[in-house]
Amino acid sequence: MNEKEHPGTDSKYIGSDLSKVMTPVVSEHLMKQGYHICYPGNKKFAICLTHDVDDIYPPLSHRVLSGLTSLKKKDWSALKKHLFWNKKGNQASPYINFHKIMELEKKYNAKSSFYFMTAERDPRRFRYNIEDIADEVKLIVDSGWEVGLHGGYYSFHDIDAIKREKRRLENVLGREVIGYRNHYLRFQIPSTWEILEKCGFKYDTTYGYTNMVGFRNGMCHPFRPYHLQRQQWMDIYEIPLHVMESAMFDFTKPDEAWELIKQLLEKVELNNGVITVLWHNNVFSCPFRDHWAKIYEKILQYGISRDAWMTSGEEIYEWWCENGYLLYNRSDPVG
Ligand SMILES: [Zn+2]
Repeated sequence: MNEKEHPGTDSKYIGSDLSKVMTPVVSEHLMKQGYHICYPGNKKFAICLTHDVDDIYPPLSHRVLSGLTSLKKKDWSALKKHLFWNKKGNQASPYINFHKIMELEKKYNAKSSFYFMTAERDPRRFRYNIEDIADEVKLIVDSGWEVGLHGGYYSFHDIDAIKREKRRLENVLGREVIGYRNHYLRFQIPSTWEILEKCGFKYDTTYGYTNMVGFRNGMCHPFRPYHLQRQQWMDIYEIPLHVMESAMFDFTKPDEAWELIKQLLEKVELNNGVITVLWHNNVFSCPFRDHWAKIYEKILQYGISRDAWMTSGEEIYEWWCENGYLLYNRSDPVG
């Protein structure tokens, strides 16, 4: 992959032609060359479900919008909940909703990944102390879902920051963290992958669009990036991201959004691929984003009807490793 064609920030992609990224051209090519993928239970494709936990307490703007939406719907109990939740203490926050999300996914025989933040700095506001929700975070892992790191806004080119953030999350969790996504999808190629490799991450799932949906490098399969200077495959997997809900709803209405996702799902099924979707946890407890949450449930319904494997990044990574779905071995230089 050419670094100059794939810079870490998305600014030059604003206005990209959507029709060009709706087909996984590289994966299609690999399939034609005999790339063969199986999934557990003979399933035909996988949906990698992910949640970035940007907030565990609603910021003021969310509180106001949720309050106004509840007022419009004359939903008095929701109004009370969104305006006065902290009367019962921080633990009553509507955004500490991981159990609710897992229950929804469980209904469809699905699992997901939650990426938590432990960064000290953020340009918008202080986010949260992960130690305050240690029990909830541990419960996610004990239930069989994944907890990964949501690297800070400034961290994507700072190895010390990422090391610190990883250690802090692992201290709370009492186990190793292998999955990563950077906040705001900030990424630099190849240096962020190099940092993640050095910090001991096994996979990243930042590589996607912040202003549209689709197959950014034409792939709907996890892959190992190739390092041009080192002339080697890197020791990390990328599970490319295809749909971030906030990016999609920026340019679509809910019915159009579903049509777009359906097109992507169909293409991924045809190529026995993995489609990765990102729904922030706040969406599931945010009256003004109810329609966003409904589309997520529609994905789960569609997934179960097409017999997709709906799971976390960690399980996709492990499956890829176990089955040797790599073009080359880890130490192989490319001739
Ligand atoms: Zn984020």
